[in-house]
Amino acid sequence: MKRSTKTEKAHKKAKKAEEQTHRSKNSRKTLRLSFLGQAPPGLVKNFHHRITEEEEEEEHTMTSSSISSLRLLHKRKHVEFIKYSSLDTETIEYALTEHLRLSGMYWGLTAHKLLVMNKNNQEEEEDKEEVKEEEEIMSKEDVMKFINECYDEKSSLFAGAPGHDGHLLYTLSAIQIFVLYECVQEQLSKERAKKICKAISKLQSKEDGSFAGDEWGEVDTRFSYCAFSALSLLAHGMGEECFLDDGLEALKIGGSDDEKKEDNQDKNRSKALGIMRKIVDVDKGCEFIMKCRNFDGGFGSTPGGESHAGQIFVCVGALQICNQLDLLYTADDDEEEENDKLAWWLAERQVKVGGLNGRPEKLPDVCYSWWVLSSLAALKKKHWIDLDKLKAFILRCQDDISGGISDRPDDEPDVYHTFFGIAGLSLMKHEGLEEIDPIYALPVRSVRKIGIESDWY
Ligand SMILES: [Zn+2]
Repeated sequence: MKRSTKTEKAHKKAKKAEEQTHRSKNSRKTLRLSFLGQAPPGLVKNFHHRITEEEEEEEHTMTSSSISSLRLLHKRKHVEFIKYSSLDTETIEYALTEHLRLSGMYWGLTAHKLLVMNKNNQEEEEDKEEVKEEEEIMSKEDVMKFINECYDEKSSLFAGAPGHDGHLLYTLSAIQIFVLYECVQEQLSKERAKKICKAISKLQSKEDGSFAGDEWGEVDTRFSYCAFSALSLLAHGMGEECFLDDGLEALKIGGSDDEKKEDNQDKNRSKALGIMRKIVDVDKGCEFIMKCRNFDGGFGSTPGGESHAGQIFVCVGALQICNQLDLLYTADDDEEEENDKLAWWLAERQVKVGGLNGRPEKLPDVCYSWWVLSSLAALKKKHWIDLDKLKAFILRCQDDISGGISDRPDDEPDVYHTFFGIAGLSLMKHEGLEEIDPIYALPVRSVRKIGIESDWY
């Protein structure tokens, strides 16, 4: 089960040599769409530029080091794409994705904030008027009206769309949007906030600490993350006063009272964790997550489930929110290899073209830029992958004509991959983008407003 140090070293060496061998070939591939930034605007949606022979030839002579400087992030086009996607209710995609409309709104609005929040961008400086117009893709009033229509009185959770059943996934999306708009207390009465907390506590299993997503009981580590992230954002956003009086004490379902562990942590974080402990069993919740860890260092959706980058993000994020990331490591200093196993698994997700996949032997996909990179950021090992190559891959997945980012170059862009592509670039501190918090998946500036310092990485 455990790889020896020798094998590990040989593996690293072989990987490096292999990368060098493929460098010239890859640089050509990575540059495929590098010249499309100049294409005339206003062409029909989904038109795909085909690269000319001269362009192919020119690309061939370039080295990979020049890739990211050549390729531009089409900020304005992406803003337009997001706006268009939110308005275009006639498409089949819109009809098919109704159940997750609220999450779609979170992806679009967060991507938009990351694109426009940072005002120190040269492009924006030159064209302030236009940016101002674009600042809102939907009025705050409409956004809040929609979210409140998604609230399901029966479950005390938010649903993916009005009239649907409440679910943890959408409850987190709703709270994330409130944080994004700095209006948690404005939109949530104390009463509703406490009802949501109570509903979340009911979804935790008293036996093993796992969380179900809704009353139907499907268990998944994704829901552990949703529960902890939602509670943490609520605890920070609503303030201590909301949780001081009545009922909540009675909700306690066990767990450690030992608050000493948090003594050295930031005051706000300790308070929030204290509140969370009154609502759910934080320790048991983290124990369940650790049961989903595999021999390769990764995590699955349930105990014994295959390691997957998305599940790793939720497990690492949940542990981080609960201040229990140290559960990932053994105390023995000689166990370095064992302790780094998870980071190695994540770093090995980078394929030759620079993109990241979610599991071994799979194709790269822009959304994994987020799942993998944010996990590596939480482990403070972002530098274990080639960030320039990853940036170049994401930039290649842009639709240079109509904006938006797709899963892979030349595919149809969508709001989901547009968000994760921009989030990935933001995590790599791409110029002109607002920084994103790798744990809460919200702009650093937004979480700071409710007292969360993004000092994770
Ligand atoms: Zn994807």
